[in-house]
Order: sequence, then structure tokens, then C-alpha cells
Amino acid sequence: MKLPDQIHDCVRSFSQLPGVGPRTATRQVLSILNWSVKERELLAHSIQNLSHIKHCSECGMLSSESLCNVCQDSERVNKKIVCVVENVKDLLAIEDSGEFQGIYHVLGGVLNPLLGIGPDELKIDKFFARVKRLDIAEVILAVNPSLEGDATCSYIKSSIDNSINVERIGFGVPIGGSLEYLDSQTISKALEYRRPM
Ligand SMILES: [Zn+2]
Repeated sequence: MKLPDQIHDCVRSFSQLPGVGPRTATRQVLSILNWSVKERELLAHSIQNLSHIKHCSECGMLSSESLCNVCQDSERVNKKIVCVVENVKDLLAIEDSGEFQGIYHVLGGVLNPLLGIGPDELKIDKFFARVKRLDIAEVILAVNPSLEGDATCSYIKSSIDNSINVERIGFGVPIGGSLEYLDSQTISKALEYRRPM
């Protein structure tokens, strides 16, 4: 039996979510059909509102304004410590730990010559310019441990002014692990036990 096109369209959209296959998507859509019109409108509206989200012009975090709330917080900017992360999910994991009070920089990946990702693709120059402009004293590399992550950290360390303290988190973060899957306590420890590069 064929379901109406409207349901099919919705299932197709939901199937694009990570970890959601067509079966789960169908279950979810059928469950939404039981919602009130008002609830469905709220869901549609909140998804529509996502089109107002952009990347912070300073750090690359997601934001509804040109500057994210961390970059707008002068107290955090004035700490002169920047934490470099691979992606927004890792940033959120560190922010959830409540351990870090400085500002962030989202690289959007790590150096990977085999995939053609070089310093230009990651806009690392923008990061160096930011470090200079904000007179940053300390850089914490919260880059996940992998061959590419290690190479990225070495590249940043070797390209940055010697007067800037560059440290990398390590303790408790497994090789090949990803910050987004670690609990807050492990991340707190990883920040506490960071080591100089
Ligand atoms: Zn920002």
C-alpha cells in the first residue's frame, strides 16, 4: 500500500538525519501526524528559523548574529586565551564542561593532504591574524588525537609567534577519539592536564 506523497516527502527529509533510516523516519512522521496542528506548526517554524543561523565572523561558531555570544563577551575575550577546536560539536563539548573561560576558534577540520585539505582550506591564516589582533597570550589546541590532528597542531605551533604559549590537551582523550563523545569530567581533566607543545 502506498502512503500519500506528503508523508513520503517528510520521510525522505527525516531519513537525512544521522542514524535515522527510512523505517525510523516513517515511525517519526506517523507520530507527528498525531500531534496537534499547533505543535506541527511550531516544529515547522523552528526548522524554518534555522535559515537565520550563520557562522560567527570571528570564531566560526554557529550564531544568529554576526558575532557569537562568546565573542561578544568582553570578559572572555580579555582573558587572551583561545581554544582551537576542529568543529562546532567539539566546541559545545568543551563549553558544557564549564572548565574553559576563554574564547574559541573553529578550524572546520584538520590538515589532510590526502583529501586536499591544506592550511588555505582551513583558513588558518585567519586564525593567526586573529591571534595577533586580539593579542592572544595562550593557545590551547583541543584537536582530537590522530595523525592529521597531530600534524595540524605541529603546523600551528611552528607557524605561531614564539612568545605565545601553545599547549595541547591530552590526558584522558583516547587516540582516534572525538571530544564530542567524551563526558564533561574527562574534558575537564584533559584541559587541566594540557601540556606544552
Ligand atoms: Zn564567535
